[in-house]
Amino acid sequence: MGMSLWNDKKRTMWLLAVLLLGAFLVTSGFSYWVAHSSLSQQVEENTLPLTSDNIYSEIQQDLLKPIFISSLMAHDTFVRDWTLGNEQQPERLIRYLKEIQEKYGTVTSFFVSDVSHNYYHSSGILKQISEADPNDSWYYRTRGLPQSQDYEINIDLDTADRTKTTVFVNNKVFDYDGNFIGVTGVGLEVEKVGALIEHYQKRYNRRVFFVDRQGTVMLHSVDYSGAATLQQTPGLAENAIRILANPSSAFSFTLEGETYFINSRYVPEFQWYLLVEQRGTQGDEQLLTTLWSNLGISLLVTSIVLLTANMTLGRYQRRLEKMASTDKLTGLANRQVFEEQVTRAIPQAHKQHSPLSLLLFDIDHFKRINDQYGHSIGDLVLKSVSLQLQQHFAHAAVVCRWGGEEFIVLLKGTELTEAAAEAELIRRKISEHLLQINKAELVVTISGGIAELQSQETGEQLLNRADKALYQAKENGRNNIVLSH
Ligand code: GH3
Ligand code: MG
Ligand code: MG
Repeated sequence: MGMSLWNDKKRTMWLLAVLLLGAFLVTSGFSYWVAHSSLSQQVEENTLPLTSDNIYSEIQQDLLKPIFISSLMAHDTFVRDWTLGNEQQPERLIRYLKEIQEKYGTVTSFFVSDVSHNYYHSSGILKQISEADPNDSWYYRTRGLPQSQDYEINIDLDTADRTKTTVFVNNKVFDYDGNFIGVTGVGLEVEKVGALIEHYQKRYNRRVFFVDRQGTVMLHSVDYSGAATLQQTPGLAENAIRILANPSSAFSFTLEGETYFINSRYVPEFQWYLLVEQRGTQGDEQLLTTLWSNLGISLLVTSIVLLTANMTLGRYQRRLEKMASTDKLTGLANRQVFEEQVTRAIPQAHKQHSPLSLLLFDIDHFKRINDQYGHSIGDLVLKSVSLQLQQHFAHAAVVCRWGGEEFIVLLKGTELTEAAAEAELIRRKISEHLLQINKAELVVTISGGIAELQSQETGEQLLNRADKALYQAKENGRNNIVLSH
């Protein structure tokens, strides 16, 4: 029984451990997943578009300024009147261009006349443009723009300084009748624009760049290290169509275990797409820390629960074992325990030639007590007699409830006379003990039969003799002890 209980306990502990850890793992994992996806959603749907809006509005101030300046120049009556007046006194226009450049802090300002093909610059007439010169193709492209489009943005080498790459705004100029008369505009240094983008990147902790409608990267920060086109950029290549076919888009992708969030929007003034990219989510690390500490707590709780369960089960197990070996009503050893003790004690006594006595007791007229006072009072009497026997024979090998109202005591190393004296003592004690029952006083007596183990005698024979002696005691009129010789 002990063994199977122990196995049951082991199995129960395992089950408990698996259940607890499983439940904790699922809960922690699930809450991490929920938090993670809501965080991702937050980045994708709110944070990033907001950043994109902010950058866009800053661009309107910083990058769209040259567009407004160019438009202003194209509509300036002085520029138009001077051109229509056959471009007399070029220094007047040159001074005008110089004023624009200084006032607005642009890197260049220019006007090209469609009549003279002169390229006017803040520093003078630089050249005559020609359709044959590939460097001048921008002019003919601007001239050929559809009617609805007044300007184009072009990144090119500066005609005034061939070492510098410049963002040009080329704006068509018309006379008062709507006839094309030239192209004017300003330029911004690309480095300046790159620094501007870098400033946004630092400010918002995100990657910012522009691509044209074909997906070519047009503007980026100075430290940009990506590919030249969307189609060549891992992760973005798969989404290039999605970006280039929509005025705005928001999505995420995973590359080498890292999540990237992208927000794109079309900037009509440039005919470019503004792309804002964020790698991972900042809250993610915190989530992971939470996940780990949750798992740590789970482990701790599991250990505590297992420890407690182990202790409780152990106590329960011990109680079960005791229950299996003791009598429920009196708490004395049961017949099984007595038999185990006797089968061990008798061969031992024979071998060591040491005395051993068996004492059998029976409550007198117990039936009457039950009949007169009821079964539960009978139980109380049984308990009281048991307690007195147990206290009296505390040194005995075993004090057992043999059945009903019969008790058996095994005394090792005890001769018949000594056992008889002890039996006589307890008999008298019990008969003198007054039991208080429902204000009445009840006297209970016992009879006893005693036998000492004789050489080569079996336990059965010994018990038989004690039983006979007890019978004799009853015959003698009860409340006495009889010895078997
Ligand atoms: P005697 O002096 O000859 O021993 O008379 P007695 O009435 O004690 O004799 P007997 O052995 O015939 O009766 C024992 C009674 O004890 C019978 C049974 O109903 C009662 N008894 C046995 N076990 C219990 C118990 O657990 N509780 C109670 N209340 N009564 C019990
Ligand atoms: Mg009896
Ligand atoms: Mg009896």
